[in-house]
Amino acid sequence: MNRIENLKKLEIETKTWDIAVIGGGASGLGVALDALSRGLSVVLVEKADFAKGTSSRSTKLVHGGVRYLAQGDVMLVLEALKERGRLLQNAPHLTHNQPFIIPIYTFFDRLQYSIGLKIYDWMAGRLRLGKSRFISKAETLSRLPQIKQDGLKGGVVYHDGQFDDARLALSIAITCNEMGGNMLNYTKVNALVKNQKGKITGIQVRDLIGKKNYKIKARMVVNATGVFADKILQLDQPDAPKSIQPSQGIHLVLDKSFLGGNDALMIPKTSDGRVLFAVPWQDKLVVGTTDTLREKAKLEPEALSKEIDFVLETAAAYMVKTPTKADVLSVYAGLRPLAAPKEGSTKTKEISRSHKVIVSESGLTSITGGKWTTFRKMGEDTVEKFTTVTGENIKPSASANIHYRGYTTAPQKGHWQGYGADAATIQKMIEENPQFSNLLHPSYPYTEAEVVWAVKNEMAMKVEDLLARRIRILFLDAKAAIAMAPKVAEIMARELKMDETWIEQAITDFEKTANKYILK
Ligand SMILES: Cc1cc2nc3c(=O)[nH]c(=O)nc-3n(C[C@H](O)[C@H](O)[C@H](O)COP(=O)(O)OP(=O)(O)OC[C@H]3O[C@@H](n4cnc5c(N)ncnc54)[C@H](O)[C@@H]3O)c2cc1C
Repeated sequence: MNRIENLKKLEIETKTWDIAVIGGGASGLGVALDALSRGLSVVLVEKADFAKGTSSRSTKLVHGGVRYLAQGDVMLVLEALKERGRLLQNAPHLTHNQPFIIPIYTFFDRLQYSIGLKIYDWMAGRLRLGKSRFISKAETLSRLPQIKQDGLKGGVVYHDGQFDDARLALSIAITCNEMGGNMLNYTKVNALVKNQKGKITGIQVRDLIGKKNYKIKARMVVNATGVFADKILQLDQPDAPKSIQPSQGIHLVLDKSFLGGNDALMIPKTSDGRVLFAVPWQDKLVVGTTDTLREKAKLEPEALSKEIDFVLETAAAYMVKTPTKADVLSVYAGLRPLAAPKEGSTKTKEISRSHKVIVSESGLTSITGGKWTTFRKMGEDTVEKFTTVTGENIKPSASANIHYRGYTTAPQKGHWQGYGADAATIQKMIEENPQFSNLLHPSYPYTEAEVVWAVKNEMAMKVEDLLARRIRILFLDAKAAIAMAPKVAEIMARELKMDETWIEQAITDFEKTANKYILK
């Protein structure tokens, strides 16, 4: 995936792409993947890095959504369970089967969760990941050694998937690139181009690194910008009403020892009526999440102290060792798009987690809502609108069984797993250049080779791209990420042919962002 080569393709002014996708998060990637699977030509532009938005800030679950089942949204859960199964099959290097335990304190809870999760198992059909079952108090304590014993009667175990969200986004982006898609990060849409009838015929974009503008012609333009969807809708129609109200969810990352073991804890009802997860992830523990209305859509939202207190207090009610702010290795926040209140009302309504595809009069096609797990189906449903927009027929979707870049059923262990089959190539680079085996940080296994690899193959342009999304250290241990930045900047500068000034600026920029992931 080479950015310079991809930019060159934008210079062919006679070229009309079938679909131009705005946004390189889960939704936009799903659209690109599905369109390419039908033989359509695709250009995708992302104003920051792939998955810089909500798509790198999830709870990291590939799930049907036990919560939505409790709310009676059966169709949504059925669809998500099917997509969960597909995702685990198509990306075994970036996903795995994760057991969850719900602690049980009353007979009624035992009955309710045992029955509910049996239904969940049954709905997954042959794509089921494992049987749910009640386990004794002794087994619960042996699997979650750091959970409080008071009043505990046992647990209900069930299975869902877990994944590395940002690396999955990259793996899909590279897959799309290999299928002929033109994938570009740091390329922002500034305007929509229309013909005399008011129909959209393309987009105007700016390469934010090379500081150059391009006009891209496209038969269909897809707005897949998540919480930023209103900004694109307003480019289409300047007086378009506000349709989205961001709601924030935060996660705290702790040492894995706060739970012990390899099982995840699921607390089905917190004091604010939500679900709280504590999930082992890449040798740490991810705890979250919250639901807090925010005024603005931001690329780098920040956790509020009341959210931090809520997560710490809720976790402390279940954990033997009370987690404090000093134990938080990283804090990250993401924004979900809620439906904004209608004029005159103050109530916000959560857009059903099932996605929505809307075609505006101009032909602009917006995809909103949904979740990471269903990204492919969201793409399929969006591309189905191609005929409505252009009047041309298209081939049926063939995206359900595509293996994503790095696919292997026998991934290596530890941090190499996320590279899948590419791990062997990176290790070969180390064999040929022994200095590449140098570690970026004495406490973590990441090597210099991975920085070179990410610049050459994964379109890493900034230090943050490397430390937040190619390897996930910013989300796992923000202070360690800051310590790694100078070395990473130096290697990246060498590969990107940048000078000392670039290195200094790159480190300063990264520290500014990374400091937001540290609790003061
Ligand atoms: C706290 C939280 C936890 C979650 N946990 C889970 C989970 O465990 N499992 C699950 O399945 N789902 C989960 N979700 C849902 C999932 O993360 C989202 O549905 C998904 O990431 C949304 O992807 P998106 O592409 O729509 O938005 P985004 O990832 O935000 O992508 C939109 C992109 O558009 C780009 N963009 C905006 N404007 C422009 C422009 N003018 N030009 C070019 N690009 C532009 C942005 O830079 C951004 O990268 C969670 C969501 C939240 C908030």
